[in-house]
Amino acid sequence: MKCHICKGKGSIELKHHNLKICEECFLIFFKKKVEKTIKKLKLFERDERLLLALSGGKDSMGLWHILSELNYNVDGLHIDMGFGELSVKTKEKIEELSKILNKKLYIINLKEEIGYDLKELSKFTKRVPCSLCGLVKRYFMNEIALKENYSAIITGHNLDDEATTLLKNVLRWELAYLGRQTPLLEKMDGFVKKVKPYIFCYEKETLLYAIISKIPYSKDSCPYSLNSKNKNLKMAFHILEHTSPGIKLNFMKLFLKNRDFFVPFRERELKDLVKRCIYCGYPTDREICALCTILERSKNEISTGK
Ligand code: AMP
Ligand code: ZN
Repeated sequence: MKCHICKGKGSIELKHHNLKICEECFLIFFKKKVEKTIKKLKLFERDERLLLALSGGKDSMGLWHILSELNYNVDGLHIDMGFGELSVKTKEKIEELSKILNKKLYIINLKEEIGYDLKELSKFTKRVPCSLCGLVKRYFMNEIALKENYSAIITGHNLDDEATTLLKNVLRWELAYLGRQTPLLEKMDGFVKKVKPYIFCYEKETLLYAIISKIPYSKDSCPYSLNSKNKNLKMAFHILEHTSPGIKLNFMKLFLKNRDFFVPFRERELKDLVKRCIYCGYPTDREICALCTILERSKNEISTGK
């Protein structure tokens, strides 16, 4: 196999781009692809202070490396959900990369913040860990970004993640969710801008980038991810991609082109959420938002020694 770019020996085939490529050319190609996405979608500028949410996995860790190489001003934030030994190992990798890149790193420990780790919180609230995890992450990402004056929160969601979510929302015709799904969620009253520079990058590419660049990252996945319903959808999409390379990328690109159609459904929903949480300002139809309700309850129980 010949590299289409340098004509040397290629070892990587990217069917969705109809491209055969060698490792060295892949790194350059991939970095350019990410930079092009940032510029084309106007995600952020070089003079912005950016905060990257790090799970410790190949996506967010690789993205930290790329954005640093592209001279963006980007610090890291990790939320430790309290998965014991797994969390300890993950934190070590994140700290290692932060030293290599010489970037600031914030680590938030859930148990220290609210008195419960994720498993305990799930037991206490009788809610599934995955929904709580999402809630907690959204909350602390925004809180730290606001407090520390960052203009954007970056996440490592890749094309496989995002196309799967999109497919899920289409299958259920979740119009308001479709109106909210975007790689660039502009800042709103009390919310920092949220961006996803890996939106057009296949998981295969983000994995290759992390491996070839020898980036330290955690190979362990979340202990709850095996139960995730999204896994079947991801598999189904995988089969479609195998028979029609590029279908995922087109699905996402064409959606984004027509996304304006769905935005009013989101806005209608926002209008219904006329109230703001009295504690954190999150849009809610009650006095106190879902997370603050949990936080208040846990604080009360701690103070009463239950
Ligand atoms: P996931 O929902 O686990 O697929 O993660 C999607 C993105 O959310 C990752 O690429 C990270 O940017 C961010 N993320 C996930 N877990 C954490 C965490 N524990 N702390 C901070 N950011 C996270
Ligand atoms: Zn709240």
